[in-house]
Amino acid sequence: MTIAENILVLKKQLPEKVRLVAVSKTKPVSALMEAYQVGQRMFGENKALEMVSKQAVMPEDVEWHFIGHLQTNKVKVIAPFVACIHSVDSLRLLCEIDKEARKCGRNISCLLQFYIASEETKFGLDLDEAMELLGSEIFSALQNITITGVMGMATFTDDMDQVRNEFRSLRIIFNRLKTAFFQDQPTFREISMGMSDDFQVAVEEGSTMVRIGSTIFGARILQKSMSS
Ligand SMILES: *Cc1c(COP(=O)(O)O)cnc(C)c1O
Repeated sequence: MTIAENILVLKKQLPEKVRLVAVSKTKPVSALMEAYQVGQRMFGENKALEMVSKQAVMPEDVEWHFIGHLQTNKVKVIAPFVACIHSVDSLRLLCEIDKEARKCGRNISCLLQFYIASEETKFGLDLDEAMELLGSEIFSALQNITITGVMGMATFTDDMDQVRNEFRSLRIIFNRLKTAFFQDQPTFREISMGMSDDFQVAVEEGSTMVRIGSTIFGARILQKSMSS
């Protein structure tokens, strides 16, 4: 199947209110354009410089989602245009995003990334750390970021019960934070979870945004590192 066909098939499988972030990391602009031509507008990248070089040549109405581990020194290159950063895992990073967003006269949507998997390699906060971050004075002074929800990655396993439990734990975290900090804020509404192999389970567990790469664009050549 072509990229265009893959997108259309996927869209049919997703409930209308679940949005699709097409994860285009490592793929050439020609592949992104094929997706764009069938109406895809949200694209996900995990390396800052790769996202910048694609943004420079793609149409202006693309919504760029940063989904990888973000180093503070790379925030400034994506701050002028990034729509949402899914991978915020520290107050320090959030302060840097706020600072760079202010320089651009922007407000940047951020998701708090949670560690829900049983693997050592995944980045993210736990509930206590997030509570401390959101309750801090430093956080309350930030004006150029909006926390719009949470993000998580399940363990890479065939055990779908485990995957389901991990997604469920992220939804419980979302609900707790909503009650404790965002009760009157409709902007706090996203649960970014679900990838090619597990998005159906994620949708059943309340995902509002799935991040799908290989099902759309085909397998990737292995990347050496997770860093941006
Ligand atoms: C690569 C990646 C995805 C997409 O993975 P696929 O299995 O190719 O769909 C989703 N989320 C994050 C954070 C990723 O790094």
